[in-house]
Amino acid sequence: MKNAIGKNIGSNVMKIAASAFLLLGLNVNPATAENVGHEGLATVYHIYTDGGYLGAVSENEKVEELVDRKIAETMEDFSELKLEPEKSFNVIAEQVFEPTVKDEQEILSQLDEKLEVKASAFALTLDGEIIAQLKDRAAYDETIRQVLLQYASSEELEQWEANKLKTGELPGLETDETRITSIDIVEDLAGVTAQAAPEEIMDAKEAASLLKDKGLTVIVEKQKKVEEGIEFETIEQEDGEMYIGKSEVGQEGKNGEKQVTYAITETDGKQTNRHTVTEEVITEPVEQVVLKGTKEIPTVGTGKFSWPAEGGYISSKLGPRWGSHHNGIDIARPDGFDILAADHGVVRASGPDGTFGNRVIIDHNNGYETIYAHLASIDVKVGDKVPQGMKIGVMGTTGRSTGIHLHFEVSKDGVTKNPLDYIEQ
Ligand SMILES: [Zn+2]
Repeated sequence: MKNAIGKNIGSNVMKIAASAFLLLGLNVNPATAENVGHEGLATVYHIYTDGGYLGAVSENEKVEELVDRKIAETMEDFSELKLEPEKSFNVIAEQVFEPTVKDEQEILSQLDEKLEVKASAFALTLDGEIIAQLKDRAAYDETIRQVLLQYASSEELEQWEANKLKTGELPGLETDETRITSIDIVEDLAGVTAQAAPEEIMDAKEAASLLKDKGLTVIVEKQKKVEEGIEFETIEQEDGEMYIGKSEVGQEGKNGEKQVTYAITETDGKQTNRHTVTEEVITEPVEQVVLKGTKEIPTVGTGKFSWPAEGGYISSKLGPRWGSHHNGIDIARPDGFDILAADHGVVRASGPDGTFGNRVIIDHNNGYETIYAHLASIDVKVGDKVPQGMKIGVMGTTGRSTGIHLHFEVSKDGVTKNPLDYIEQ
């Protein structure tokens, strides 16, 4: 008859509940069970592994030595792991009257072959399914952190952790500051203590990347305060002093500034929602005012002519010249190159004209006409109403010309007049 009794031999021996044999009605005191010394009693050690019962040995030390050696061997490759024999490995001590241990060496060699050294692990489960083996709880926490680091900076995560512990209202955000307000992993992610083959143990980064591949959904809500410009508006204002067709900026527009706090939802790092939480105007924009001329352009000249160029001097007067007659005056070396209408009128001709090159003729509708020749370019076309002083082209040297100048003529009722009788520099 055997008296099974629980005995702790290191951590590798299963502890049997005392009640189990008390029910058998045997008068054995567990406290004295280790004292092998009772008359005729000896202890044998039954060995179990994954494969079931292996047999019994008489010296537990041999088993312990074997286990220690196997762990030490594995440790050479997996020194960072907590190694232990497979869970199903049990040694149960039994006190027997007549030890019947046989082939002890054979049993130990079988144990050597069958016993698997495992790593104490923390199994990572996704929606209830184990997808990775991690070293421990800390590795699990680090895995979650690595997952979140794909979508937030470590500073943001630290801040978030710290803020969770705070009570009461958080201070307002600084400009360009981002604050995480919630993190939600949609799938059910959990961890459970387990054993795993040492080579199965994954590091946190690998596990995080695996979770991403498995389509883990992370929803991060943030608040962000930014400074933004407020675009100015442009309004038009009529200006009776300005001719129709002309416009100018009366007041320069200026953009304003505002501080906006946004609530942003990011799903797997992509913004999926954004709305404004607060908005504070720092500086109001200034509207741009564009003045639009409403004044009718006069088409009848005043009879008085203004200087048709920007400065310059008279390089040639009206009169005989080089065996011919010079019908106007030449103005050269100006301050600027704009050619200006000498009086109100309507453009009667505009374009290239033989020795004149590019020329413009303005009919002042009072008997007078003026001619502007050798222009580099022309700004007006036939029929245009041109008020006195308006730019009609650019001074040049087109046609028969020996240098950049304006050839300017005045006529009254078809008769050429001396421009110097009408204009003053
Ligand atoms: Zn000339």
